[in-house]
Amino acid sequence: MTMDLDGVALTRDLVAFRTVNPPGEERACAAFLADILAAAGFSCTLAPLAEGRVNLIATIGDAAAEPLAFTGHIDTVPLGAKPWSVDPFAGEIADGRLYGRGSSDMKSGVAAFVAAAVSRAPRLADGPGVMLLITAAEETGCEGSLAMQDAGMLRRAAALLVGEPTGNRPFVGHKGALWLKAVTHGVTAHGSMPEAGDNAVYKAAHAIVRLEDFDFNVARHPVLGKPTLNVGTVAGGLNINSVPDRAEMQIDVRTIPGQDHALLREGLTGVIGEAADIETLFDLGGIWTDPATPWAARVIGIAQGVTGEAFTPQGAPYFTDASVLTPALGSPPTIILGPGETAQAHQTDEYALVSRIGQAVEIYGRILDDWVSR
Ligand SMILES: [Zn+2]
Repeated sequence: MTMDLDGVALTRDLVAFRTVNPPGEERACAAFLADILAAAGFSCTLAPLAEGRVNLIATIGDAAAEPLAFTGHIDTVPLGAKPWSVDPFAGEIADGRLYGRGSSDMKSGVAAFVAAAVSRAPRLADGPGVMLLITAAEETGCEGSLAMQDAGMLRRAAALLVGEPTGNRPFVGHKGALWLKAVTHGVTAHGSMPEAGDNAVYKAAHAIVRLEDFDFNVARHPVLGKPTLNVGTVAGGLNINSVPDRAEMQIDVRTIPGQDHALLREGLTGVIGEAADIETLFDLGGIWTDPATPWAARVIGIAQGVTGEAFTPQGAPYFTDASVLTPALGSPPTIILGPGETAQAHQTDEYALVSRIGQAVEIYGRILDDWVSR
């Protein structure tokens, strides 16, 4: 039996689930989607992550073949301090905009690929395999996809589509992130006798000045540009009249695909000073797919056919679950394409364009048709 699901109505259903992370509490939303997908013939697994939190893996078609994978997260960022002018969980539609937290980032993306997959379920059941990876806890650092990877739940896939907000433009990659905390140490003394101590703040200050001029020594990526480094926080000292014996800084490095994070960390350690304690807070590699890769080229052609917009190679300004999933799935071609508006992610009064959601259902549907008719 073919079911017809409306992508816009399903987006509104998903926005109504309060999956603000923290705490997330994605279980009810994931179970709701699992019911819909199971009724259409998908095999669904709700994989527990923590109390009230699950990932959903839904598969259909030949279980032995490498599947086409879609991924999207169902957690959202908090509402923020600024008051909303609309109910963030009502999914109100006005002037062609569907409002709500997660409408763009990225419940519309999940709703669109679920709607497209459900409408084609009978054909997919006899096809080469499709896998939907609907994750929890993406916004706080891809913890949901990391849990699936660590549990060995991911197998090789032929391609991966990430439904993060791109306004239905195919993005062919994004930078990686390496977040470090560095602590410098010294010896405290009375502030009137600095010569009796060893000032940890001076060590941090010198390190920060050297970091500002850090040379990555890599060629600029033709599309994603060059890697960047930002010292985001610095703190040290207890009071004005003591020599500080500890200072701490946090460093946000955005890398380009192919950069070796372990080597990079070594280089940064050399610049900060071997005596500092350096801790990795977050470590995710970048993503890149050559747009000429056959599957990528077909997806780009399909998107262009639906939106009428010419393709320009570009990367996403954010990182995605692909940093975890793409390597875990055997590094298949990966495209980021979703109906949400990139600039609406994490905004007060976040909205998605209703017209883009319909387009995404059509694009994803054609990607599935292309997949099963290979
Ligand atoms: Zn997102």
